[in-house]
Amino acid sequence: MQRENEGLLLVVSGPSGAGKSTLLHRVMQERENAWFSVSATTRAMREGEVDGVDYHFISRECFLETLDAGGFLEHNSYCGNDSLYGTPLAPIRTHMAAGDCVFLDIDVNGARQVREKLPEAILVFVTPPSMEELETRLRRRGTNTEAQIARRMAAAAQELPQAAAYDYLVINDECEAAAQELQAIVTAEYCRCTRRFPYLKF
Ligand code: ADP
Ligand code: 5GP
Repeated sequence: MQRENEGLLLVVSGPSGAGKSTLLHRVMQERENAWFSVSATTRAMREGEVDGVDYHFISRECFLETLDAGGFLEHNSYCGNDSLYGTPLAPIRTHMAAGDCVFLDIDVNGARQVREKLPEAILVFVTPPSMEELETRLRRRGTNTEAQIARRMAAAAQELPQAAAYDYLVINDECEAAAQELQAIVTAEYCRCTRRFPYLKF
């Protein structure tokens, strides 16, 4: 199929438990040219997660080697220094060049690094409707210990004010409505003249 658009890089951030993965799954199901950037991480795999699908689960040593070789677009540690996360650069280049919509689910520090390197990236912040609801969701997800939940709540309090630097804010109260908002953002960004005009066929 002939290309009709520039590629789109959409960065989604927000507190752990806000519902980023849930929304991204929904939006991606409905978009043909969507591609999710699978991050590398040194954290332990959670029940239900699949290596290569949710993350590339790698050793700290392997992570640091890749970092040294310039293999990450951005990287960060989260909740202290115990877990490292990074976005592999090569597949992003490939999918952007193919005109795909590339989704990144990364934290606020990573998003800042992406914006510096690729200013055309679109930044979307996802919040829960309240901190109480965030805690409820983290508990209901059942993948974190009480200590981890406490650390994630503290991280959320630090992350939320940084939403002001993003292009869009999606409040994930009712899931379907929030997914529709995210879908609308992607559609609007694809309709930008800068992305479409170079591909007009007449
Ligand atoms: P994140 O990717 O931001 O860490 P998840 O997508 O894993 O968050 O969602 C955290 C938990 O909250 C999951 O159990 C998910 O099913 C639930 N969840 C997501 N969105 C909503 C919503 N709008 N209403 C209620 N629960 C939700
Ligand atoms: P979790 O451990 O809950 O999957 O993710 C914890 C946090 O790390 C989330 O805020 C998530 O967005 C972020 N994260 C996941 N992958 C990456 C990545 O590649 N880079 C950065 N900077 N953050 C990431």
